[in-house]
Amino acid sequence: MSNISQELAYTDEVAKATAPIYDILKDQYALSYWETIAPYIHEINKLKREKNAVILAHNYMTPDIFHGIADIVGDSLALARSAAKSDADIIVQCGVHFMAETSKALCMDKKVIIPDMKAGCSLAESITAKDVRLLREKYPGVPIITYVNTSAEVKAESDICCTSGNAVKIVNSMESDTVLMIPDKYLAQYTQGHTDKKVLTWEGSCEVHERFTPEDILKFRAKYEGVVVLAHPECPPEVLAEADYTGSTQDMINYVEGEKPDRVVLITECSMSDNIAAAHPEMELVRPCQMCPHMKRITLPKILEALKNESPEVILDPEIAEASRIPIQKMLDAS
Ligand code: SF4
Repeated sequence: MSNISQELAYTDEVAKATAPIYDILKDQYALSYWETIAPYIHEINKLKREKNAVILAHNYMTPDIFHGIADIVGDSLALARSAAKSDADIIVQCGVHFMAETSKALCMDKKVIIPDMKAGCSLAESITAKDVRLLREKYPGVPIITYVNTSAEVKAESDICCTSGNAVKIVNSMESDTVLMIPDKYLAQYTQGHTDKKVLTWEGSCEVHERFTPEDILKFRAKYEGVVVLAHPECPPEVLAEADYTGSTQDMINYVEGEKPDRVVLITECSMSDNIAAAHPEMELVRPCQMCPHMKRITLPKILEALKNESPEVILDPEIAEASRIPIQKMLDAS
């Protein structure tokens, strides 16, 4: 990283090429800081064109990545689906490891790189393929619905996948009166409240969303009159009970762009608010900061190094990839 920084300078060329991006981000970054990151943005944007690479950025990436270098932004599944349609040779996954695996499974012909192999996820790590096999033995005949925030090996043992946006729809599409929804207990509890089926679950949770409390929301309402509260279904039920609306990251974006609230707070990872604030300066975003340490491993210097070296590469066993694609495809067909 130090060698790269020595090569990069805020030249007139960099300033000119990145001016339209800074126009979007000027309320997020002081000019003095921008001058240190703009050379990375410029270099990455040049290199990705030279290498026919596509950069996928999750909604939880910081604004410099999200607005500065990404070709496709969205939630994990939207990213992978878009990647599958692209004619790029290289996919740079700006997100966590399970997302890169999903991209790889859907695009086995492409090279998928992730700027930091250690970018994990508490939810994905809460369950293994062996756990799923044991659940199947314990609950014979009960379909296993697996959240996309899991490893490819776990997906490969599952009947169908779901996202936070389509979980209720997927559960209701199953013939069985009882289903197992893994691994997020809070998403399963939220889904239980919106279906007549019995939803069994697993003791997994997101370390970011479970930190929010109902008191946080009460404080926001007291301090920011009229604030609209949107919460992610990975939050505990007592938090969702205090929110005005519950939905996935994409649902939240659709809500703010459709309803255009004057003042809004997103009960989710904090970069999402920064990205929406940059795109909608007319809107007041109240910003609680619960940061995902795994997502924050992905930085501009690491992305530049990964793109230069085309490494670290995500490798997936072809049999696991094939088996994991089946429940993903079933979900796509059902939704
Ligand atoms: S925000 Fe939560 S679910 Fe998303 S990657 Fe971080 S730990 Fe995992």
